[in-house]
Amino acid sequence: MAQPTIGHLDPVFVALMDEIKDLLRYAFQTSNALTFAVSGPGSAGMEMCFVNLLEPGDEAIVCINGVFGTRMKENVERCGGTAIVVDDAWGEPIDVDRVAAALKQHPKTKLVAFVHAETSTGVQSDALTLCKLAQAHGALSVVDTVTGLGGIPVAVDQWGADAVYSGTQKCLSVPPGLSPVTFSDRAVAAVRARRTKVQSWFLDLSLVMAYWVGDGARSYHHTAPVNALYGLREGLLMLREEGLESAWTRHARMGSALAAGITAMGLGLQVDDAYRLPQLTVVRSPEGIDEAAIRRDLLKNYDLEIGGALGAWAGKAWRIGLMGQSATPRHVLTCLSALESGLIAAGAKASAGAAVSAARAALA
Ligand SMILES: *Cc1c(COP(=O)(O)O)cnc(C)c1O
Repeated sequence: MAQPTIGHLDPVFVALMDEIKDLLRYAFQTSNALTFAVSGPGSAGMEMCFVNLLEPGDEAIVCINGVFGTRMKENVERCGGTAIVVDDAWGEPIDVDRVAAALKQHPKTKLVAFVHAETSTGVQSDALTLCKLAQAHGALSVVDTVTGLGGIPVAVDQWGADAVYSGTQKCLSVPPGLSPVTFSDRAVAAVRARRTKVQSWFLDLSLVMAYWVGDGARSYHHTAPVNALYGLREGLLMLREEGLESAWTRHARMGSALAAGITAMGLGLQVDDAYRLPQLTVVRSPEGIDEAAIRRDLLKNYDLEIGGALGAWAGKAWRIGLMGQSATPRHVLTCLSALESGLIAAGAKASAGAAVSAARAALA
């Protein structure tokens, strides 16, 4: 990223954009022509999907099982659409049967939006089934896989997903500021068939495409964050070098090892094994322990940051990320030993060393 900044229409830069598009197609497992990185964080990718696919008066089914689903609803409403909410309890995946019932009840539904990997709860939902269901009802699918990409299988073409957005700073381990997106031909056709202009000039796909897509001449739309894109290319090259399957296996192994350690420590996991994300583990903090003080201790004394919980879980749980370059045995073992010693120092009951031994056994 510290390489010299070149012009946003320099032929060398245009070649770099093309290289990034190819690498993103690999990461997303898609042949979609319209695959690129939005100049903005994951939230910008989310907004791009909604503002381009929805017009005032459209109906959209929004699945909510955590914080990020709520933001999708907000996007739908700000586009002048009507959000039909299918909500599930925190810690549960999206209930496919209830989405099917909502589609039957609302046959004019334009799109179904859901979060593949809910970072607020550590839950994975069944993207393949949800996308196929939308398609079977003539609706488009919008998938948030900001935390999924590079950490768990994302298979855009196999899913038949229509608009998918991600981020750079989760399992790609690239600094924040870009949002990889991909759109199916069906999604592009829906954008072309709009009766009204996209209300956001900056995120209007038909304008952004002139900059990111096409052979030869590209025209200026905005100045891409050139150095941030150097970083994304490097992160994607590292992912390709490792191989997607190997990256998924690594995340799965580290997630299991962390879970084994947490359980050995006598702490509870908030999410069932069957749909727990390996890259984001929600751990119940023991009764009577100030969970925020434990986090402060980890940060101050071990340079180790774990997340607090959100919503109804705030103050009662931690969110531990093992994403991208932090999904390593060293991170797992350091986190477990630091957490365990912090808990013992704070007066919690835990047998010293149990967590690390259990995690080591799981890794072996
Ligand atoms: C982080 C995240 C986002 C938002 O990404 P930003 O880069 O913070 O804008 C959206 N959805 C999910 C599931 C996320 O984890």
